[in-house]
Amino acid sequence: MSFHALGLSDELLAAVEDSGYTEPTAIQRQAIPLVLMGRDIIGVAQTGTGKTASFVLPLIDILAHGRGRARMPRSLIIAPTRELADQVAQNFLKYGKNHNLSMALLIGGVGFGDQDKALEKGVDVLIATPGRLLDQFERGKILLSGVDILVIDEADRMLDMGFIPDVERICSLLGPNRQSLLFSATMAAPIKKLADRFLKDPRMIEV
Ligand code: AMP
Repeated sequence: MSFHALGLSDELLAAVEDSGYTEPTAIQRQAIPLVLMGRDIIGVAQTGTGKTASFVLPLIDILAHGRGRARMPRSLIIAPTRELADQVAQNFLKYGKNHNLSMALLIGGVGFGDQDKALEKGVDVLIATPGRLLDQFERGKILLSGVDILVIDEADRMLDMGFIPDVERICSLLGPNRQSLLFSATMAAPIKKLADRFLKDPRMIEV
């Protein structure tokens, strides 16, 4: 099966081709059409399966071809570590290079100045670790009620690192009609509970 059958735009297909990928991976084949359709999903997939592209690619298309750019972030991707958040951001820049989407990366361990500036300009996609995201929320720098696509990446590591309460708090601040995508290498009970509470009728994809 080729990338052309998944419903992505020509601009994205060009970026995918430039990345040197000839075929979508299993998670990409299954997830991308569902995400484009607006379905919630739970992707049980390890790092290395191509899962990042399975949400970054359709997200770019939804943002670029959906409603105009908003002042509040329309999408939020949370990842457990700075390194993972940064990797997702790199994917976003790579696959989104033919789109004019704005992105802000909110991670701990760096100053607030640059992040504040990015937020003030308005962002289409916010990529964040839970702690810094909540800090910025407390500082009144972001409103999360406009988020209509949420991605929780590596939920199992969020659990290992004790971030589930932060993730729950973040979920409760988002728009009620959002689409939510949760990725996890395992479905431990606390992650299942999180999914039951915050996802709507998710389709389970296991690879
Ligand atoms: P991930 O599972 O998101 O950490 O991605 C693992 C690696 O696979 C990354 O280095 C991606 O650049 C690469 N990758 C993602 N999708 C594809 C694909 N369809 N074909 C080949 N490589 C891919």
